[in-house]
Amino acid sequence: MAERIPETLHKKIADRLGFYEDIGIRLFYRDRGAELGTGVARPLEVPAVAATPNMISEEEPTLPKPAHKPELRKTAPMAAPAAPKISPLPLPVAAGPSLFEAVEKIADDTLLKIRDNLGECTRCKLHGTRNKIVFGEGNPKAELVFVGEGPGADEDAQGLPFVGRAGKLLTQMIEAMGLQRKDVYICNVVKCRPPENRQPEEEEVSTCSPFLLRQIDTIAPKVIVCLGAVAAKTLLQTNRGISQFRGQWLEFRGRKLLATYHPAYLLRNPPAKSEVWKDLQKVMAVLGLEVKKGKSA
Ligand code: SF4
Repeated sequence: MAERIPETLHKKIADRLGFYEDIGIRLFYRDRGAELGTGVARPLEVPAVAATPNMISEEEPTLPKPAHKPELRKTAPMAAPAAPKISPLPLPVAAGPSLFEAVEKIADDTLLKIRDNLGECTRCKLHGTRNKIVFGEGNPKAELVFVGEGPGADEDAQGLPFVGRAGKLLTQMIEAMGLQRKDVYICNVVKCRPPENRQPEEEEVSTCSPFLLRQIDTIAPKVIVCLGAVAAKTLLQTNRGISQFRGQWLEFRGRKLLATYHPAYLLRNPPAKSEVWKDLQKVMAVLGLEVKKGKSA
């Protein structure tokens, strides 16, 4: 008479067989239900398994070993992921002609002609909120040109660059160099005030900056000082942070360019004045200006 197996064991066997089914070794077992009247199976005599004294145990099943180790399909080695693209520093690393460097100089250009061409400009959306265009001011033959970001509220009201609090600080900086405002030329990347003093947008910069380019070409200064990141990034055509190249001599269309902090930043961070003073002393050395003894930031 067929031996009845306990209920708990019966369940264990059923679970185990389900597991064997799932992992694809069900064929190594055969149904023994008819023999036992239980519908459960017992292990067949399969080499690795048959040697196991108690197949119905708490042990995890041992999978039969394949005769041959399956070969992994050989595939071409994966290509290394492309290195992230980093915008090169315009200088001292040679970076090829920038957007501006590719632009031809206009023969016999003058500041007057440029101002005439600009007219009551509506080329970008900043015209809608401005009061006055702030073209630029100073010596048309200046050896030193300061380029800022864009007009603020005071500049927008008066039509003159750097006349607010930051402008007063710039005037002090210029005078500390032994110069007057009338000796230098001061202008901005965009000539209309961005609302709420926000940064000018890329499209506004690209629309307005050709006029700045003509101004610089016409004045032909010995040194250009970029005040702040927007001016520096615009002229150098770089996305790098200003701290990476501040105070270094760079080149713009064959002229010496140095980027330093914007006076508005100095109003918020007075300790940075000493860094800017060091930068301005470098400019003074190139322009042959004497640093007076005891003069400090
Ligand atoms: Fe024209 Fe420049 Fe003013 Fe835009 S910011 S409206 S381009 S002058």
